[in-house]
Amino acid sequence: QIYMSIKTVNPTTNEKLQSFDEMSKDEIEAAINQSEITYQSWRKTTYKQRAVLLHKVAEILRIRKEELAGLITLEMGKLIGESRAEIDLSADIFDYYADNGEKFLADKTLKPEFGEAFIRHSPIGVLLGVEPWNFPFYQVARFAAPNIMIGNTILLKHASNVPQCGIAMGEIFKEAGAPEGLYTNLLIPGDKISKLLSDDRIKGASLTGSEKAGASLAEAAGKNIKKSVLELGGSDPFIVLDDADIEKAVYWAVIGRMNNTGQCCVAAKRFIVMESVYTEFLTKLKAAFQSLKVGNPMDDDTQLGPLSSQDALSDLSDQINKSVKAGAKVELGGGRIDRLGAYMEPTILSDINKNNPAYFQELFGPVALLFRAKTIEEAINLANDTSYGLGASIFTSNIKQGKLLADQIDAGMIFINHPAWTQPDLPFGGTKRSGYGRELSESGLEEFINKKLIRTS
Ligand code: NAP
Repeated sequence: QIYMSIKTVNPTTNEKLQSFDEMSKDEIEAAINQSEITYQSWRKTTYKQRAVLLHKVAEILRIRKEELAGLITLEMGKLIGESRAEIDLSADIFDYYADNGEKFLADKTLKPEFGEAFIRHSPIGVLLGVEPWNFPFYQVARFAAPNIMIGNTILLKHASNVPQCGIAMGEIFKEAGAPEGLYTNLLIPGDKISKLLSDDRIKGASLTGSEKAGASLAEAAGKNIKKSVLELGGSDPFIVLDDADIEKAVYWAVIGRMNNTGQCCVAAKRFIVMESVYTEFLTKLKAAFQSLKVGNPMDDDTQLGPLSSQDALSDLSDQINKSVKAGAKVELGGGRIDRLGAYMEPTILSDINKNNPAYFQELFGPVALLFRAKTIEEAINLANDTSYGLGASIFTSNIKQGKLLADQIDAGMIFINHPAWTQPDLPFGGTKRSGYGRELSESGLEEFINKKLIRTS
C-alpha cells in the first residue's frame, strides 16, 4: 500500500515534486534488526573510532553544503542563506561531539565511605529519533551525534514533508563509512511511531515537534518503561525594559521573530514592552518588518520567504483571524501575501487579552504579539503566563538586573540582550509543556546513557 503523505512539495510554488512509499512492515523489522545487530558491535568500538566517523560526517556536510542547503529550501522554504548556516551548524555539532565526547564520557571517580567506586558511561542500545521539518539537518545532528558517540545506534523518523533531507542524511552516514544499521532513515508516517516503542530492541526515544505528537510518543514510552526526551513548542517572551537600547532591541526582535520565517520553537513570539518605550519599539518594529524584501527563498537577497506548506499558512491565518475576532488589534499585516506559494505577511498584533485564543497559543510564523507592561512585575507575570517554558529574552542595559529577573522566569533558556539561540556547546531544552530533557553540550550526552556504578571493596 502506497502512503502518499510522504512527499516533497515546494512551498514557494506549491508544486508537488516527488512522493515516497511508506516502508513495509518487513522493511521496518529488518531496519530494527540491523540496528540491534550493529549496536552489539558499535558498543565495542573506541571513542577514537566513533570520533573519526563523526568528523567524517561533518566533512561531508561541508563538502555537500550547497546541494543540501538547496534541498532544505526546496522542501520547506527556508531562506537559502539560513539553509547554508544550518548545514554549517550541523557540521559543527558533529565535530563538537567528536572533539569533546571522550572527555565528557570518561569514567567519573566517586569517593565512597570505604573501598573504591566509579561511574562508567555505557550505551543503552537502539534509539528512535522523531524530528520535525523546521531544521531538517540540525535537529538530526543534535540527537544523532551525541548518541553515536555514546555507542548507541539510531533509527530516525523524519517529518513527512522533508523526505529528501531525511534520505540525504542516511546517505551521508553511509558515505562517511558508518556500518549498516548505525543510522537508519525510516520512511514512515507519524501515526505509526508509538507502536514501535513496544519493541524490546528499541531502548529510548526522542521527539522534537508538537505537544500532540510528544504526548503520544511519551505515553507509549511510559507504558513500555522507556526513557524519552521531548523538545516541544514554545511561546517565548521577549521583554524590553525601560533602560534597554531600543535600536538594538528592535534589531534582535526582527531576527528573533523572523529567523526561519518565524518557524522556530525558540522564536521570540510575545514581545512584552514597558509602557515608556512601547510606542517607540512598536514604530521601529513595524518599519523593520515592512522593509523586509519578500521573494523566492533561493535568491540570496530575499528576506522573507514562504512558510513550510499551504497547510501551515492556513493554520496560521486561522489563528490570526480568530485572534482578531476576539479583539486583537492588527498593527501590521494580518493576511497572506497575494502571490504564488505559502507566503504570510509580516504581522504585528496587539491588545491581546486573556480571553483571546492567541494569548496562550504558539504562532508558528512571522507574527509578533505585542504586550504593554506598566511595571517589571507585570512584565514577569505576563512572561510566565503561558503553558510553555522554552526560551526567553530580556533587554536591559542593567545586566545585573537582567540576571536577577532571569531567576524569576520559568523557562529552560534565558538570554540577556539577545534572542534565544543555539550553539553546540550550550544546552537546549525547556520546562513545563515545552518538554523535558536537554540536547547539545555535555547535557546532550546524559539522556540515553547508563551511568553504571562499578564498585570494589
Ligand atoms: P509535529 O507535527 O509534531 O511533527 C514533528 C514530528 O513528529 C514529525 O516527524 C511527525 O511526523 C511526527 N509525528 C506526528 N504525529 C506523531 C505521533 N502521533 N507520534 C509520533 N510522532 C508523530 O510538529 P510540527 O507541527 O510539524 O512542528 C512544529 C512544532 O515543533 C512546533 O510546536 C515547534 O515549536 C516544535 N519544535 C520544537 C523544538 C524544540 O527543540 N523544543 C524545535 C523545533 C520545533 P509526520 O510528519 O509524519 O506527521
